[in-house]
Amino acid sequence: MRFDTRAIHGGQGPDPLTGAVNVPVYQTSTYAQTAPGETKGYDYSRTANPTRSMLERALAELEGGKGAVAFGSGMGALTTLLWTLPAGTRVLAGEDLYGGTYRILEHARTQGMLRPEYLDMRDLGAVRQALGRGPAGLVYVETPSNPLLDLVDIRAVAELARERGVPLVVDNTFASPYFQRPLELGAQIVLHSTTKYLGGHSDVVGGALVAADPKTVERLHWLQNAAGAVPGPWDCFLVLRGIHTLGVRMRAHAANAQRIAELLEGHPQVASVHYPGLSSHPQHALARRQMHGFGGMVSVELRGGLPAARKFLGALQYFYIGESLGGVESLAEVPALMTHQSIPPEERRRRGLGDGLVRLSVGIEDGDDLVEDVREALGTL
Ligand SMILES: *Cc1c(COP(=O)(O)O)cnc(C)c1O
Repeated sequence: MRFDTRAIHGGQGPDPLTGAVNVPVYQTSTYAQTAPGETKGYDYSRTANPTRSMLERALAELEGGKGAVAFGSGMGALTTLLWTLPAGTRVLAGEDLYGGTYRILEHARTQGMLRPEYLDMRDLGAVRQALGRGPAGLVYVETPSNPLLDLVDIRAVAELARERGVPLVVDNTFASPYFQRPLELGAQIVLHSTTKYLGGHSDVVGGALVAADPKTVERLHWLQNAAGAVPGPWDCFLVLRGIHTLGVRMRAHAANAQRIAELLEGHPQVASVHYPGLSSHPQHALARRQMHGFGGMVSVELRGGLPAARKFLGALQYFYIGESLGGVESLAEVPALMTHQSIPPEERRRRGLGDGLVRLSVGIEDGDDLVEDVREALGTL
């Protein structure tokens, strides 16, 4: 099956009872047993639910994993993953990360649970050195990263980590499995905020882990049930519905984002644009190698800094000012004030995240309308 077919049929199929082409929302907490302990495979919905099972099969197919485990949010997925690690474990994480990811890693540090270390994963020498300094429990990267759209060479980092017996976890939220499949490049686990492109309609919060080997899947399923950060069946249904159109949506997101990035790059009020699809992106060649397209996220630094950013966002018509990303509608935000404010200002600055950076989640409205909107908003600066 090619990708668009897999998105509709992979791990899915009509309901065996009625032939319904969409999985029913099994809105139930428990299941009648024929005798004590005799079930039809389901006994309690924290442990398993048929709507959730269908979503998990579909996600595993899309990422090319041996299994997937769904959660009530991306952070629920990450927190459960961190519970697999013994106390005091070193975690090597990329430097540009979603604010909430940084926040929970730092919480784990202050609670004496884990020892996170951040490094620029674009620098393979630094990765090799960090791995050589002592044992680590996992390597954790976002690529493309949030919000700076930096890339990490998944194949190379996976190889370095494997030499030390350390699993690589890739947050694949920005690319979605349509544009990037980290397990095929050597990663062991993929993390998703299904809230974003997989759900795709800004109407559900969810998360998932997809693993390359059955043992890890089994372990994560065990913890999913033990820790209990599970999604409800209705939310699973919504993510599945989003998945059916992932390919068509991603193509539209990427086509519009490319146009917006090119428009921004040529504008006198713009200091810099971050988009892997621009030939000026320092890792454009890597993007061509490990991605099948460049996604719908664009970040831009305006010459006028934060005041200009505020003015620009206020002037946009079709881009709502809002957190989150990956929905059909366009969104604009200032990470320093919104999604990444949980990172201390000096730490943000050290990581190259400027106060005036604007992050755009380019939607699938008509590209001409979006281009005109951005051009006019830039004209007010
Ligand atoms: C949103 C996001 C998360 C967190 O997911 P939630 O569903 O909001 O909990 C993690 N990583 C990235 C890259 C994100 O954009």
